[in-house]
This record gives sequence, C-alpha cells and structure tokens, in this order.
Amino acid sequence: MGALLLDGKKLSLDIEKNLKIRVSKLKEGGIFPHLAVILVGEDPASEVYVKNKEKACDRTGIKSTKILLPSSTTENEILELIDLMNNDDMIHGILVQSPTPRTINEILITEKISPSKDVDGFHPQNLGKLVQGELGGLMPCTPAGIMKLLKQSRIDLAGKKVTVIGRSRIVGMPLAILLAQRGIDATVTIAHSKSKDLAEICRESDVLIVAIGRPEAVKLDWIKPGSVIVDVGISRINDSLTGKSRLVGDVSSKAMEVASYMTPVPGGVGPMTIAMLLTNTVDAAAKTKFN
Ligand code: NAD
Repeated sequence: MGALLLDGKKLSLDIEKNLKIRVSKLKEGGIFPHLAVILVGEDPASEVYVKNKEKACDRTGIKSTKILLPSSTTENEILELIDLMNNDDMIHGILVQSPTPRTINEILITEKISPSKDVDGFHPQNLGKLVQGELGGLMPCTPAGIMKLLKQSRIDLAGKKVTVIGRSRIVGMPLAILLAQRGIDATVTIAHSKSKDLAEICRESDVLIVAIGRPEAVKLDWIKPGSVIVDVGISRINDSLTGKSRLVGDVSSKAMEVASYMTPVPGGVGPMTIAMLLTNTVDAAAKTKFN
C-alpha cells in the first residue's frame, strides 16, 4: 500500500482563501497589508522564490514591493534601507531573500528588521519566543507550515519518536523546538551532518522530517514501515534516463511505498512556507490596528 499524500498545495490554497477574506476586511478598515521583499544579487533560484511570493501576494490581495539590489550593495546600505522600512507605517512585512552575497552578514540583517515586521520569523526575539513556548508571535515560515500540515492531517505526535535531520536556524532547529513543546509532546531527535548511524536513527523514527538539501540522501531501506515522512529539501537534478532536469527532495520518492503519509516534492512543504509568509504579513498588518 502506498503512502497518503500530505498535500501542502491544497492546504495552502485553503489558507489563502481565508487570508483573502481577512485582507479585504483590513482594507475596509483602511489597512492595506504590504510586504516588502529585498533581493540582493542575481541568484536564479532566489528570483524564482521571490516571484512565487509576489504571485501569492497578488492572489490574496496583499501589496508586494520588490527591491532589487546589485550584488555590490554593502551591508550598511541594506541596513539603512531596512531602517527606512521599519519606520514606514505603510509596510507591514520585510523580508530579505536568502542567500545574500557572502559579503553580507545575514544574522545582522535579521536582527535589524523590526520584530513586528519580521515575517520570516528569524529575529532573535521571535525565535526566543518559541523557546519560551509563546506561539502568538511571528513564527518561522517553514517550521510553522510543517506543523500546520501535520495538524491538519490529524497526525498525532504525542509521545512519538520524531527525527528532524538538519539543524539550520531557519528550518531544523526551530522545528525541533515546536515539535517538543508542551501540547505537541513529541520525543525529538535532532540529527545532522556529524550524526552517526543515521540510517538506524531513521529506522526507529515514527516521523521523519528531512531538511538537508542533499538530493534523495534518505534511502528506502532507512524508512520505518508505516512512518510519516516530511521532505523539506528541494534540489534540481539532471535525470540520467530522460536527460531532463527535475526537482527532487532529500528522501527517495520510493519511500512512498512503505510510509503511511508523505509530502510530495514539489507541492508539499514549499506551498505551506509561502502560505505562512502570507499569514505572518496579514497578522503583522492586523496588529497595527491596535497601535
Ligand atoms: P542548511 O544548508 O542551512 O542546513 C542543512 C543542514 O543539514 C545542516 O544542519 C547540516 O548539518 C545538515 N546536513 C547536511 N548534509 C547532511 C547529511 N548528509 N546528513 C545529515 N545532515 C546533513 O539548509 P536549510 O536552509 O535548512 O535547507 C535544507 C533544504 O531545505 C534545502 O534543500 C532547501 O532548499 C530546503 N528548504 C525548503 C523550503 C521549502 O519551503 N520547501 C524552505 C527552506 C529550505
């Protein structure tokens, strides 16, 4: 029997439908939700990601402004631009597309964005709230999207052995914190590039979440039959059989044969990440009402 799909595309469309209603209500009240996206340099993948974010804003009625900067832009110039945006009441969300050129310190950039406009959810104040179990703030989009997808699919995580492979600041680490929080109650293992016996750790996992950016690194025989698989990775590879390029995740698609639920790539975590970005932007705009 094959796995059931954890369909992020479908859920994200439902979320967008609700957001569209919230956006029109805010507009009636004189608030026009507005996301500003800063893209530094010319990375083709980043350009696609930013375009997808713009399209999603269009679909929900959120205004988006894209600021394209040359790769020669200095860190100070970006910090000054963020300062202007922080003080602009007409902008509710600010996002600097990652990765930035090597000359730019992404942590400094993240810290500069006002926590109330930090729609990526990476500001230390917003990440710190997660550790305190406060989930009312702006949450990092990919982890929040995964949690929503698991909840919507009624996957009970309490007491389950959940392994997160990858410990990045934006995906793995905040996700592990969310999974272990009171009320979700998963028993979480964080694995990474220095972990030993990774295959064995996976075989013991009821839920496996992989965010490493290594195409199909997790093999079929690593998967515990009946387990739930969330594949965050997305890489473009050249298919030697067809000679064409295609998108693949971090987990072999054959895992579908033994898992109970699995996210597709594409169409799983990616659309949920964008839906959470839109949600954060609308939440940030809605909060300005009370200032
Ligand atoms: P990252 O490069 O910041 O971190 C990768 C992590 O994986 C590190 O913690 C590293 O220790 C671990 N790792 C690397 N190779 C490993 C290996 N062979 N075995 C075990 N652990 C290993 O990456 P990231 O930003 O967290 O992104 C990871 C992947 O998820 C990428 O493919 C990225 O494109 C994708 N991603 C997708 C979305 C989405 O919305 N679908 C969002 C964010 C990231």
